[in-house]
Amino acid sequence: MATLIIENCAIATVDPDGTEHTLGHIVVDGNRIAGVAAGPAPPHPHARRVDGRGCLATPGLVNTHHHLYQWATRGLAQDSTLFGWLQHLYPMWTRLDEQITHDAAAAGLGWLAMSGTTTTADHHYLFPGGADLLTAEIEAARTVGLRFHPCRGSMDRGQSAGGLPPDDAVEDIDAILDATFEAIDRHHDPSPDSMLRVAVAPCSPFSVSSELLARSAELARAGRVRMHTHIAETLDEETFCRGVHGCGPVEYLEQVGWLGDDAWLAHGVHLSETEIKQLARAGTAIAHCPSSNGRLGAGIAPVRALLDAGVPVGLGVDGPASQESGLMAEELRQALYLARIAGGPEALSVREALALGTVGGARCLGREAEIGSLEAGKLADIALWRLDGLGHRGIADPVAALVLGPPAPVELLIVNGRPVIDGGSPRTFDPIELALRAETAARRIAGGIR
Ligand code: ZN
Repeated sequence: MATLIIENCAIATVDPDGTEHTLGHIVVDGNRIAGVAAGPAPPHPHARRVDGRGCLATPGLVNTHHHLYQWATRGLAQDSTLFGWLQHLYPMWTRLDEQITHDAAAAGLGWLAMSGTTTTADHHYLFPGGADLLTAEIEAARTVGLRFHPCRGSMDRGQSAGGLPPDDAVEDIDAILDATFEAIDRHHDPSPDSMLRVAVAPCSPFSVSSELLARSAELARAGRVRMHTHIAETLDEETFCRGVHGCGPVEYLEQVGWLGDDAWLAHGVHLSETEIKQLARAGTAIAHCPSSNGRLGAGIAPVRALLDAGVPVGLGVDGPASQESGLMAEELRQALYLARIAGGPEALSVREALALGTVGGARCLGREAEIGSLEAGKLADIALWRLDGLGHRGIADPVAALVLGPPAPVELLIVNGRPVIDGGSPRTFDPIELALRAETAARRIAGGIR
């Protein structure tokens, strides 16, 4: 079993005690962490040793909400509300094919790696003509080498049924459930070391039927996989729910069997105290997407209140069409800023922000026992951030440098014991090639090249 030692670096383990080392080392055996401790590493005859001087080691970041395909439609509908933005983009998204989806996903995944992400979820809910686009993005994730949680999304409530998406963007409910079952059967790996777990993910209250939500929950629980959807993102959604279902979005989810500790929900911006308590009682997690909420002017999620109530909270970059930066590390700072704009300077600390982006994300994905902190026995998903350049050198506290400082270069990114970024350079992909392919995908979906 290959041994890797990362040494001479600061370490924020994000373990339950918040253990940190000013100068320490991490020993990795195969795909697991063998030890984390202060001081120099012991001698080891065959280990590869990485000198982490000037760096901070943290758990790899866990991105809990994304729409990778949107890498092909960035920079559009810049000043729209969520509903206006969706109505502008739906017609373009009906042109998605395997190649566009693969190349957009590869670009988004490479970019996530370059911002310290070792695990990501992706919510894919468009399947024009029944194309197997989930497999296209799974192939991209295998190449880039991130731990992947693809969510087989769906929409069955088109405009003619009172929904928001055009009818040609939605699928038939039986076709959705068959394809979702098939995706679990073919791709889902429940093992503790899993690099790929599938979730069941109807899109949102205004694009899916109650029947699809209810039957999706049954399917997910029968297949022992997790459930994901969007909820309480905007006041327009709240108005839609009250008009159509006669209740708010959280109450609606409860009615269709969606509140449980096997579900995590994107956004949760507009939540009452009662709704926060409901989520806490159920153990349902929230994927907080601060940059996307800012870009669409959706509002500020009550993260402090959610944490105080005991709701598990992770972070998500959300789709790159509503958040062109897509840098996962930036979400740490964005989460802290939004919490403090709403609640003052003590509303969220830099260490709480780092915990949201690591162990909080692991909780959303049901993997707290395996990832999200640097502890002996956990999977070796590690980010080593370079903090000795012009932008960071001399900042008093390395965790503050990471969260409050400019985006830090990733010196080393280990996923499942394997280097994805090494010596500051990607090893599993070429960023220029990914960028060029993504640009072609963007031209094709815009109709410029067919
Ligand atoms: Zn989303």
